[in-house]
Amino acid sequence: DGATQKISRHPRWVRVNTIKGTLEKQLSTTFAGFKKADSLRDVLLAPKRAKTYYEDPNIPNLLALPSRIDLSRSPAYTAGQIIFQDKASCFPAYLLDPQPGDGDVIDATAAPGNKTTHLAAIVSSKIQPGQEQRVIAFERDKGRTITLQKMVKLASADGVVQVKGSSDFLATKPGSDEFENVGAILLDPSCSGTGIVGRDDAIKMHLPEAPGGKASSQKPDKTKKRKRGDETSDPSDAAATLSLDFDESTPEETPIDGKLSERLAALSTFQLHILTHAMRFTNAHKITYSTCSIHFEENEGVVFQALASSVAIEGGWRILRREEQVDGLKSWQRRGVWEDDKVGCELDDSAKKEALDACIRCEKDTDEGTMGFFVAGFVRDDTIPQVRE
Ligand code: SAM
Repeated sequence: DGATQKISRHPRWVRVNTIKGTLEKQLSTTFAGFKKADSLRDVLLAPKRAKTYYEDPNIPNLLALPSRIDLSRSPAYTAGQIIFQDKASCFPAYLLDPQPGDGDVIDATAAPGNKTTHLAAIVSSKIQPGQEQRVIAFERDKGRTITLQKMVKLASADGVVQVKGSSDFLATKPGSDEFENVGAILLDPSCSGTGIVGRDDAIKMHLPEAPGGKASSQKPDKTKKRKRGDETSDPSDAAATLSLDFDESTPEETPIDGKLSERLAALSTFQLHILTHAMRFTNAHKITYSTCSIHFEENEGVVFQALASSVAIEGGWRILRREEQVDGLKSWQRRGVWEDDKVGCELDDSAKKEALDACIRCEKDTDEGTMGFFVAGFVRDDTIPQVRE
């Protein structure tokens, strides 16, 4: 039936945590006895009980396994050597591509920490002896901060990551000395979650407190329990699969009711606000913006409004063009879409086309086996006149 079909199109994605050991080491231990597949399709169609894996061609150190393979009790998983993380959720840290010369990296909205630990793994793999580079991870929610701290520790990322727990990224002062060395920012803010496998618009959306006021005083919706290892749970929410004493039913934010268009308007206002806040960091020169939403309003809509905002123009920010993207992602075919009448566009036709081509999309329930996802990169460009605050 439809549900079976959906699940069979989604493999179990496993990212090897290179802080704790190499892909080769994992292949010869945890995955000893597994047969290397030639395609994702071979993994999805593998006969029952077949042990097989596919090495992802886009994201380094990422494996796809048949979804029925349960590794949640394996020593590698409980020791943080492997992390369950959807392929699409690996795009932002890889696209940000932190280099030793980039200075500190901020993960602005970090819990449960999938992208934080991914950033830490990339930073650790490139850093030379004597160099120092930190990943500074902000998380506003107290409960989710605890999960973030546990995940960072379990992944042995605590040597690189500084957790700023129960801290609002929007309350930071971008021009302060404390953040002078910040060169790169990963921004993966709260969103509608409509790209999550098994979720659709019928499920309540979650909105953080809007700038200047409470989004809602309603109680969180605790009706949707997630099971450990359940393919339909939020793959970007490692807490749902980690062996942690995390209340899996805890929603990310306070839900608000209302029409879809109203909810998307409120979310995109918040997303644009937090993105333009990131653009104010004086020495930041690269940013990724991502959501697990399928909606234009939260994705291309936010990107185009940010590009048109005075912060981007005066700060000298432009889109990270497709040809500038890391090799594994410039070849990714699924790109931005345009929806007329939703936001204005101040770019001419060729610049608009270039910006849409720079946006990366993933769609759920396709042969690519990912969740629905969106990511775009921004870079500071000295050729754009800069008026720094
Ligand atoms: N990047 C995470 C991962 O891959 O594991 C998922 C992040 S989740 C989509 C968004 C997170 O941002 C939530 O945990 C939420 O509590 C947090 N958040 C929302 N607004 C924030 C703010 N102003 N400052 C810091 N964290 C915030």
